[in-house]
Amino acid sequence: MTKILTFLFLLFLIFGCKKYDNSNNNIDEMHLQSNKKAEDMPKFAIVIHGGAGTILKENMTDSLELAYKNTLQEAVKTGHEILKRGGSALEAVTKTINIMEDSPLFNAGKGAVFTHEETNELDASIMDGATLNAGAVAGVTHIKNPINLAYEVMVNSDHVILAGKGAEEFAQLSGFELVDPSYFYTENRFQSLQKIKDKEKTQLDHDGKTAYTDSFIKNSKFGTVGCVALDKNGNLAAGTSTGGMTNKRWNRIGDAPIIGAGTYANNATCGVSSTGWGEYFIRAMVAHDISAMMEYKDITLQEAAYEVIQKKVPALGGDGGIVAIDKEGNIAMEFNTAGMYRAYINTEGELFIGIYKD
Ligand code: ASP
Repeated sequence: MTKILTFLFLLFLIFGCKKYDNSNNNIDEMHLQSNKKAEDMPKFAIVIHGGAGTILKENMTDSLELAYKNTLQEAVKTGHEILKRGGSALEAVTKTINIMEDSPLFNAGKGAVFTHEETNELDASIMDGATLNAGAVAGVTHIKNPINLAYEVMVNSDHVILAGKGAEEFAQLSGFELVDPSYFYTENRFQSLQKIKDKEKTQLDHDGKTAYTDSFIKNSKFGTVGCVALDKNGNLAAGTSTGGMTNKRWNRIGDAPIIGAGTYANNATCGVSSTGWGEYFIRAMVAHDISAMMEYKDITLQEAAYEVIQKKVPALGGDGGIVAIDKEGNIAMEFNTAGMYRAYINTEGELFIGIYKD
């Protein structure tokens, strides 16, 4: 009897363990399958900025902070939905930027800063990482959504940058509706200009020479908007739109419409949109430099962004930041100012919204 019981017990052990082993294998297999599925799924991601600068918590009211966060969220989600349904990175970039251009909170479209002459001159650019095609407009005064005109220049002209009246003639021929410049008026931005002008006057009274450069630099608020997207086809696109810097004059053009400075996209490396003190971003060719460092030095997007924003730009005396995505969907948001309005939805579908440094 004991022998029979021992035999049965052994049988149970052998078959029981085997069954257990099998089920474990099944779990491993399932794991492999689901990993494979996740790997096979085309990656897509989006990142935006709404300008970098002296953005401090102590200068912000709760309601204003909420308004910024809500608009950043609306913008980034709009682009993400486009990517999710298989739309192109270019479409995601333009539609996302349109939301920020239409908001008076940001220095682009409605909400653009004022020039010294109390007008609003808008700059924008867009680049397609798949073809290295690009389009830009500079100093336009009647275009509600300059990023759309930059896109039109890219796809329906032989040129890369169109400026001023000529750009608006092209817009009209392309069926764009021109808006009255009063559309861009916001009391807040107008008062910022008046404050700078008052300081200029005080400095002039004090030392008798022009204080233009000093006041332009120290008091100009940033607030440009930008977006970079990676779509399900592996295409990267980047775009940037701005009113430039408060109190600018002489048809000053910043980095935003300069391909390689304010905007760059290349499927082989990354897409980048910049914000900050444009003159330095042009001299450092910020957006292209990040891409070039990845290509030639074989470093990561984050390493390249850090090198340019934390070392090269400050070494020249400039400040600002960038948002970027590489061809794998890795996101970088690097800035050397107190804050940068920013948001992303990464390849895992996680949403992030940030304003201050930490
Ligand atoms: N980069 C823009 C310019 O210099 C300003 C900004 O980013 O806010 O025109």
